[in-house]
Amino acid sequence: MKQTADFHMHTVFCDGKNTPEEMVLRGIELGFSVMGFSVHSPLWEDCPWTISKSRLSDYRREIERLREKYADRIRIYCGIEKDYLTDFPTDDFDYVIGSVHYVCAGYEKIEVDHSAEIALEGIERYFGGDIYAYAEEYFRTVGEIVEKTNADLIGHFDLLTKFCDCGLAFDTSHPRYVAAWQAAADKLLKTGVPFEINTGAISRGYRSTPYPALDIMRYLAEHGGTAVITGDCHSAKALGTAYEEAYALAKEAGLPLVNRVRNISF
Ligand SMILES: [Zn+2]
Ligand SMILES: [Zn+2]
Repeated sequence: MKQTADFHMHTVFCDGKNTPEEMVLRGIELGFSVMGFSVHSPLWEDCPWTISKSRLSDYRREIERLREKYADRIRIYCGIEKDYLTDFPTDDFDYVIGSVHYVCAGYEKIEVDHSAEIALEGIERYFGGDIYAYAEEYFRTVGEIVEKTNADLIGHFDLLTKFCDCGLAFDTSHPRYVAAWQAAADKLLKTGVPFEINTGAISRGYRSTPYPALDIMRYLAEHGGTAVITGDCHSAKALGTAYEEAYALAKEAGLPLVNRVRNISF
C-alpha cells in the first residue's frame, strides 16, 4: 500500500516555515491525495510554537478556503495536534493528534523536544539526573493521551528519544525504560487508536529513523496495534520525507498500516 496522505504538518500558523497553500501545492506536486493540517493547540499561555487563540478562526478559514480552491485535486482537512496539558476544546476539528510535549515535575514542566540542553537541565534539576525516572514520567502521561485528548492518532510515541544521537543518549534497552513504554503501549493498545510512524525528526536532522523505535513497533504489532505514516513536517520541502524507510520499518516489524483516521479514509 502506498500511502499518499499526510495528517501531521505545521505551517506559519504555529511553528512551520510555509503557508498552508505552499504546503498544498507541494503536496499536489508529490501526488498526495489527502492532506491534514495539524496546528499545535493553544496552551495555557501563548508560546512561539503554538497557535494563539486569537488566530484560530483565521487558521480554520484559510484551510476551508484551500479545501474549496483545490477540491478537484486533493482532499484537505483541518486538524489539530492537541498537547496533553491543554483542555482546549477540539470537537469541531476534523481530527485530533494527541501528543505529549512536556514532562511534569510537580508544578514545573520540562519541554521534551526543544533541545537536549533543556531536557538535560530539567532531568538534573527535577529528577536528580535519573533519566529513567524522567522517561517513566513521560510515558505515564503518554499512556493517558487518548483518554486526555480524545485523539484519533497517537503522536510521536517515543518523542523523548529525539536527541539520542545528539546530546541525550541513554540505553533504550534498559529494563526501566522498556517497562515504562510497555505500560504506556498496553494502555493505548486497548483504545484501538492508531499510532503514528512519524518521520519528523528525520526531516529536521535529529534522527535517522522515525518514531517509534523498531522494538516498540514490533511490540505494537504483536499486541494488535496499527499505524499511520506521518511527516510532522514544518516546511513544504520536508513533505514526504523518509516515507519509504517508514514503510520498510513497518513491514519489518509486521505493524499493519491503516487507511483511516477518525472518519477520513485514504
Ligand atoms: Zn508534536
Ligand atoms: Zn507536530
